[in-house]
Amino acid sequence: MTALDRRAFLTGLAGGACAATVAAGAAAVGAAVAAPALAADLPTPRPDAVGMLYDTTRCVGCKACVTECAKVNGLEPETGRSGGLWQMPEDLSARTKNVIKLGKDEATGKTSFVKRQCMHCLDPACATGCPFHALTKGEKGIVSWDGSRCIGCRYCEVVCPFNVPKFEWDRFNPKIVKCELCFHLLAEGGQPGCTRVCPTEAVVFGRREDLLAEAKERIRAAPHTYHEDRVYGERDAGGTQVLYLSHVPFETLGLPLVGETPVPKVAAHVHGLVAKFMVLPAAAYVLMLRFVRRHWKEHDEEARRLELEQGLKEQL
Ligand code: SF4
Ligand code: SF4
Ligand code: SF4
Repeated sequence: MTALDRRAFLTGLAGGACAATVAAGAAAVGAAVAAPALAADLPTPRPDAVGMLYDTTRCVGCKACVTECAKVNGLEPETGRSGGLWQMPEDLSARTKNVIKLGKDEATGKTSFVKRQCMHCLDPACATGCPFHALTKGEKGIVSWDGSRCIGCRYCEVVCPFNVPKFEWDRFNPKIVKCELCFHLLAEGGQPGCTRVCPTEAVVFGRREDLLAEAKERIRAAPHTYHEDRVYGERDAGGTQVLYLSHVPFETLGLPLVGETPVPKVAAHVHGLVAKFMVLPAAAYVLMLRFVRRHWKEHDEEARRLELEQGLKEQL
C-alpha cells in the first residue's frame, strides 16, 4: 500500500467525510476502471511470481476444479440450487473461491466456460485499499488475507476491479473470502487444488513469466483458435498473475475492460479529485460561517444598542 493511498483514506476518515468520500471514490473508480486505458505505467512482476493460465478452448466445464477448491480450502459446498444433491455455485461467494460460469458472445452466438477466482493483481487494489494491511501481496506475489488485522470494513470488496473478495455475512466472526492460490499446498511443494485436478489442463499453474510465454506460444501456433492476439492479464489492470486465453471476447466472460493502469493509481487519482473538489464545498462552508458570525455580531450590537437606549430612557 502506498503512503499516499493510506493517507488519503485516513484523511477521509479524519475529515468525517469517510462514507461520502469512499462512496464518491468508489463510484468514480468504477467509472474510471470502466473506461479503458489510462496512461500505462505497469508494475514489474516479482521474479518469483507464480500464477495460473486458463484457456477457454480447453475447458469442458466439468467443475472438478470447483469441488477440489472447496475441498482443499475447507469450504462448505454450495448445494442449495440442487436441493442439497451436488455443488452448484452460481458465482463467487463466501463459500466459493473458484467458480465456473458460462458466457455467450451475442454477436456470434458462441458460448464459453470461464473460470473465475482472484486474479492476484501485480498491484492489487484490495491490498492498497485495506487500511489495516489485512490483505497483502506476499511471497511469490500471492495476495492473501490476515484475519487478525481485518476489521470487516469491506473496502477491499468495493475497490477490487474484478469483484472478487466476499464477506461472510452469516458468521459471528466474519472473514473475507477469496482465492489465495492455495499457498498452504504450495508450501508443501504442491500446486493449487484446481490445477492439480483439471483433466484437460485448461488451467495450469506455474511461474507467471513461463505462463505468459506459453500463452503467447499457443496464440502463435494456432492464431485462429483465439478471438484475439492478446493474453488477458498481461497488462490489464496493470497486469495480473492469473492469465486468460479465450476464443470469445474477454468481456463476454465477465472479464472487465479495465485498461492498463493499476486500479490503486486510478484510486489515488480519484482521491486527488475528491480532495480537489472538496475544496469548493469547504470554501462555501467557510463563507457561510463568516456570514453567520457577522450576522450574529450585528445582531448582538443591535441588541446592545437597544439595551443601552432602554437604560438611558429609564434614567431620564
Ligand atoms: S482480483 Fe481483486 S481481490 Fe484479487 S488481488 Fe486483484 S484486487 Fe485483490
Ligand atoms: S488456487 Fe486454490 S483457492 Fe484458488 S481457485 Fe485454485 S483451488 Fe481454489
Ligand atoms: S477442472 Fe478444468 S476443465 Fe474442468 S471446469 Fe475446471 S478448468 Fe474447466
